[in-house]
Amino acid sequence: MANKKRIETVCVQGGYTPGNGEPRQIPIIQSTTFKYDTSEDMGKLFDLEASGYFYTRLQNPTNDYVAAKLCQLEGGTAAMLTSSGQAANFYSIFNVANCGDHVIASSEIYGGTFNLFAVTMKKMGIDFTFIPSDISDEDFEKAFKPNTKAVFGETIANPACTVLDIERFANMAHKHGVPLIIDNTFATPVHCRPIEWGADIVTHSTTKYIDGHGASIGGAIIDAGKFDWKKYADKFPGLCEPDDSYHGIVYADKFGKEGAFITKCTAQLMRDFGSIQSPQNAFYINLGLESLHVRMKRHAENGLAVAKFLSTHEKIDWVRYCGLENDKCYELGKKYLPDGSCGVLSFAVKGGRKEAETLMKNLKVAAIETHVADARTCCLHPANATHRQMTDAQLEAAGIPPTLIRYSCGIENAQDLIEDLAQALEKI
Ligand SMILES: *Cc1c(COP(=O)(O)O)cnc(C)c1O
Repeated sequence: MANKKRIETVCVQGGYTPGNGEPRQIPIIQSTTFKYDTSEDMGKLFDLEASGYFYTRLQNPTNDYVAAKLCQLEGGTAAMLTSSGQAANFYSIFNVANCGDHVIASSEIYGGTFNLFAVTMKKMGIDFTFIPSDISDEDFEKAFKPNTKAVFGETIANPACTVLDIERFANMAHKHGVPLIIDNTFATPVHCRPIEWGADIVTHSTTKYIDGHGASIGGAIIDAGKFDWKKYADKFPGLCEPDDSYHGIVYADKFGKEGAFITKCTAQLMRDFGSIQSPQNAFYINLGLESLHVRMKRHAENGLAVAKFLSTHEKIDWVRYCGLENDKCYELGKKYLPDGSCGVLSFAVKGGRKEAETLMKNLKVAAIETHVADARTCCLHPANATHRQMTDAQLEAAGIPPTLIRYSCGIENAQDLIEDLAQALEKI
C-alpha cells in the first residue's frame, strides 16, 4: 500500500501512479476547461454529485497529483494546492471562521500572515488574539471566547525560529471544540508531521523548501480528516448546515470528516476567490518534492554547523536555532524535530542596526533576499523588510528584536558559508 511507504519514497513517487504506457512524469494539464458528452454529466459535477474536472479555477488534475503527494506526506485524508502560502492560510481560516468570529494565533508567525490576520481579516470582521507560544495554560484558557473557531501556529516560526508545542496547542484547541491549524512550511513533512501530534489542518507555503529552488509561488492545505465538525455543529454552520449554492448540500454529511473541509474549501472559496495554483507551477512544486528529503537533511546540517559557529563568535550577541543545546526550544526541537529542523536560523550582531548592515553587505556567498528556505543561502533584516509594518512592540511580541538577522542556509558547502560569515564579521 502506498500509504505504508516511507517518507523518502513518497517524496519521489507519491500522488501519481502512471498506467501502462502513460507518462512517467506527471502530465501538465494546461487546460482551463474539460469536455463532457452531455449537460447531464456536467450538471452532476456542478451539484457535487460526481467528482471530476470542469474548470481550472476550481480544480486541475496536475494540481491534484501534487496535492495527493502532499496529503500522503502529511498523513492527511484530503488536500488542495493554492496559488500561494498566503492563500492557503487565508482559506484555512476563512473556511471555518466568518464575520463576527474569533481566532487564536501564536504571535510568533510570519509577518505576512500576521498582516493578513491582524489587518486584512480584521477588516472582514474576524477578530484575532495573538498569544506567545510559551503562554501559561491559565492564560491560554482565558484567550478562548464563545465565538472562537480555530487556533493557529507555525511548527518552526519564521523568523523567530521558535518551535511550537503542537501537542499542547492541539489539546487546548480540542478541549474548546475547535481545530488546530499548523503552518508547517519550515519543518516540511520530512522533519515534522503535525497531524501525528494532533493538528487538524496543515498549511504550507510551498514557495519555500518544497519548491526549494526559488522558482514558483505556491501553497497547500491538508486536512487530517479527524475533526468532528458535527459534534460542534453550532460552531461550524458552514460545514454542518445546507449550502444553498449547491442545492442544500451539507458538507459534513455528504463528505464526512475525511472530506468535508477540503470539499467546502474548493467548492466555495476556490470557486469564489480563485486563488488556484497554475498547473505549470504545480509541476515545479512536484520536481522540488522529489528531492525534498535529500535537501532537508543538508539544510538542517548546514543550519546546525552555521549556528554552532556563530554561537561561539565574539561579535555575535545571540543565536536562535533549536538544534543548539542552550536554545530555549532545544527540548521542543528534540520532541518535534528529532531528525533535524531546517536551514533557517536567526541571530544578532553585538551593537545594533549599523553592525548588522555592515555584516550583511559584506557577505559574498549569502545574498540579501526577501526569500528564505531554498537551495541558495540568503539573509534578511526583517525589521527593515518583511516586518516593516510592525511596531517595535509587535516585533518583540513576535520574537523578532529589531536587530535580528534571518539567515537561511542553502545546500552549499557548510565550510564556505562559515568562511563567508567569518570574513564579513571581520569587517565590523
Ligand atoms: C512565506 C511564508 C508564508 C507565505 O507564503 P507565500 O507563498 O509567500 O504566499 C506563509 N507562512 C510561512 C511560514 C512562510 O514562510
